[in-house]
Amino acid sequence: MLWSSWHNHTGDGARFSYCAEPELTPDVYRKALRHGPWQAFALTEHAFALAIPAEERPWPHQWYEEPERLWAYRAFREEKTERFLERTAAACDGKRLYRGLEVEVAWDGTLSMEPQLWPYLDVVIGSIHYLPGARETWPDAHIMQLATLLAYPIDILGHPFRELAKAGPVPEEIIVETLKLAHDADVAIEVNAHLPCGDDARMLAHAVRMGCRVATGLDAHARAELAGHAYFARVVADSGVNPADIRFFKPVRKSPKPRVLAR
Ligand SMILES: [Zn+2]
Ligand SMILES: [Zn+2]
Repeated sequence: MLWSSWHNHTGDGARFSYCAEPELTPDVYRKALRHGPWQAFALTEHAFALAIPAEERPWPHQWYEEPERLWAYRAFREEKTERFLERTAAACDGKRLYRGLEVEVAWDGTLSMEPQLWPYLDVVIGSIHYLPGARETWPDAHIMQLATLLAYPIDILGHPFRELAKAGPVPEEIIVETLKLAHDADVAIEVNAHLPCGDDARMLAHAVRMGCRVATGLDAHARAELAGHAYFARVVADSGVNPADIRFFKPVRKSPKPRVLAR
């Protein structure tokens, strides 16, 4: 079976994803497409890395309560965004290697991505990277942040339960509610191989039953992770679904919707 990974990072050059190893370059993905199990990749760098320098506390939990920090380094953001656009235009062909970003929202709904970038991207992953407050309140915080994220025209909900699962197994009703919200927003849900989640097989079974689109994502931060397709195969097998019944995600550019909750 050929697989696609719609969620991948690189760590070379201007460091569009601070967390990826420098040897993970667009060329590594290009070469992986020549042989082996890969049909397509999207390069989905962290939007916050275009906004905040590495040494200025750029991680989402460091600005969730202070979204104004996303716009505080204007010269840095403009220069890095220009380099990002040049690089993706040169590296991606829109056929097997796609342009993208991974975004999240702050407490007030501010998106971590410059809204003007929508037309330049094939795949936008929306992720929850931080849940505030006490763990007992996380299920509510998860649904609230999810609804905010889904108000933007994102394509894929990245690692849907990575944060929530840190508080224990995700309740069945939260899985179903999450999938319903994603389905209604025409957003695919992601099986993510970077940090395997014990709820993935259950999530996939519900997704197929509910007609949700499913996106596979390595969320690669290192070259070694390009062997992660084995995880996708295992989740499909564990879920008990017929692979032919899975509605796999394909990039279709969404026209920007006028309901952006921008700053
Ligand atoms: Zn992520
Ligand atoms: Zn990622």
